[in-house]
This record gives sequence, C-alpha cells and structure tokens, in this order.
Amino acid sequence: MKTGGDFILKGKSQSELEEFFLGIEQPRYRARQAFQRINKHLSASLDDFSEFPISLRQSLAEIGAFPELQWLQSQREASGVEKALFALPDDRAGRARRFEAVWLVSENRRTICISSQLGCTLNCSFCATGTLEFRGNLETWQIVDQVYELIRRRKETISNVVFMGMGEPFHNYENVLRAARILHHPDGMNLGARHITISTAGVIPGIERFIQNREPFNLAISLNHPDPEQRGEIMDIDRKYPLRELLIVARRFTRELDRRLTFEYVMIPGVNMGPSELRQLIKIARSVRCKVNLIPLNTDLHGWRRPTEEESSSFYSALLDAGVMAFNRGSPGRSINGACGMLALKSAS
Ligand code: SAH
Repeated sequence: MKTGGDFILKGKSQSELEEFFLGIEQPRYRARQAFQRINKHLSASLDDFSEFPISLRQSLAEIGAFPELQWLQSQREASGVEKALFALPDDRAGRARRFEAVWLVSENRRTICISSQLGCTLNCSFCATGTLEFRGNLETWQIVDQVYELIRRRKETISNVVFMGMGEPFHNYENVLRAARILHHPDGMNLGARHITISTAGVIPGIERFIQNREPFNLAISLNHPDPEQRGEIMDIDRKYPLRELLIVARRFTRELDRRLTFEYVMIPGVNMGPSELRQLIKIARSVRCKVNLIPLNTDLHGWRRPTEEESSSFYSALLDAGVMAFNRGSPGRSINGACGMLALKSAS
C-alpha cells in the first residue's frame, strides 16, 4: 500500500480520513465508515470493519493503522467505581509508559475520567500525579481509546467524560480538543458538549484559545486557593499565571461565551479552609459566573490531612449561605486510589 508512512485511523477527523483513503485510491465514503466503526461501534479490531474488503483490512493491519492501548489491570470498588491501568509501548529509553482512567458512578450519571498526559509537568503540592516523572503527551487516539476500552469492558454506556485524570489538558491542547470533538461528533458517541468537561490548573493561554475558538465544552478551573499571595505556595503554576490574571480571563470566558464555569476547590484544613480564605472565596465566586465544586483532600502529602465531615460540611454550608452555587463532590474511588489527585499508578492499599 502506498501510504507514505504510518497512518493511524484512530483519533482522526473524517476529513483527515478522507484525505488518507483518497490517497490510497479508495472511495471517499470509506472515511465515514472507518470513523463510525471506530468511534460509534467502538470496534475492537479491523476484523469488525465488515464493509471493508478483506484485502484492505489486511493492508491496514500491515501498516499498523489500528494500534491498541494495553490494558494492564483494573480495580473496582463495591460502589462500581473502577480504575483502569493502561500502558503504551516503552519509550526509546526503555521506560514504561503507564497511565490511568477512572469510571465513576453516581445516581444519574456514569462518567469516565481520562488522562491527557503521561504524568504532569506541573507540581501542585497536594497532587500525587505531580510526583511522577513526566513522560509526554498522549496522542488523540490514546485519549479517546481510554473511553472506548472502558465501555467495551463494562458493556455499559456513559453520560459524561471529564478530562480530570493525569496531566494538564491545556499542555496538550490540540490532542485534547481533537479528542473532545471526536467524542462529541454525531457519527461517533455523540456525547453532548455540556457532558464533556475540560479541567485546567489555570493555563491562561489555553483558556484564551478555548474562548477564541468558542469551544462548546464545559470548562473547569482548579482554583484551590483564593488568595493571590498564597495560591503560588500550593500551585507552582500560579507563579507563571497569577490568580489575578486568571480571574480576568475567567470572567472573559463567562462574558464572551455567555456561560458559567466551574471552579474546583480542594479542601485542605489549615491551608485554605479558614475564615479569611472562605471570605476571599465567596468574593471570587460572586465576581465570576460560576459554580464551586468542593473536593476533600485525598492525599497525605506534606503531612496535610483530609477535612473531617464536619469541617467540609460547615465550609460547604457557609458557601451556600453566601448564595454561592456550591457542591461537595466527595471522593468516589478513594479505596482504590482512584479519587481526585490520587492517580499515581499505585494499586489499592
Ligand atoms: N491538571 C488539571 C486536570 C487534573 S483534574 C487540573 O488541575 O485541573 C484533577 C482535579 O483534582 C483538580 O481540580 C485538582 O485540583 C484536584 N486534586 C488534585 N490533587 C488532589 C487531592 N490530593 N485531593 C483532592 N483533589 C485533588
């Protein structure tokens, strides 16, 4: 087959697929067929491409057009929350490249939380992923295949996808947005744009690009500390993109796209739950059209501890009393090291 090199069918848009199929003298409609096989029917193999002649399937297999994530293991808690561990072939230095995704269940939602990078270059002091060595960005197909692989295994459908696993999505902007568009595409899973959430630690150029492109997906910003002088002590990204500027661009998002955004707030006793932080958080929440998702700390880095039920609920109630739209998201998956901030390639303890 004259392909001029490797070509991977997964993670491609229909127009990229058209260009490829026309280039190998195949009809244009093969693009839509391939796109649907991959992203709608979630085919596990080229053998499922029943409308493709066998000779074409064979040539595609020969050029490695249908790579697969390696599924290493999964852990599941009684609640139904499940964490999957995936691997890619080792890099040139022979180092393992592993990453995780989590299946979350709640009353009326089934959500998959996916990773966008192998490790993370950020070093948020409360996050376990930040302690891993960074081993690169995931390709588009490696991002969407986390969703497809979990759905194939569980044989259940999902309602939401969140880019809240390992990595900083806006440090892999292109591939993350391509993945979101594929998940949203009517010839694919057709997930509603408001059922897809991209979460950033505050990469301002990424948010600006998101606004500029008028991306239809939900945006979440990990605020985590409301004080411009102190946020940088727990999130080093604040030194590059300071809170004051972050809030300006957050307000621009709500104004220009006419939408609410989500602030995530990891509750750490002794760090960001005192009366002055509460006051500052309320002030911020009143100045940006937002909702606030509270997450109890799930790690014990730096000797920090998780808030007690009482501490979280009084912080939460104080926000509600101040008229802030707040939610306490709890920590689903904690027993399998699958809750927020725990993804660090560890088994359940
Ligand atoms: N890098 C992106 C995507 C990761 S999302 C971001 O920062 O938004 C992970 C979410 O979990 C973020 O809101 C983060 O603040 C939160 N988180 C990180 N470590 C945590 C921990 N130890 N306990 C609870 N939540 C944590």
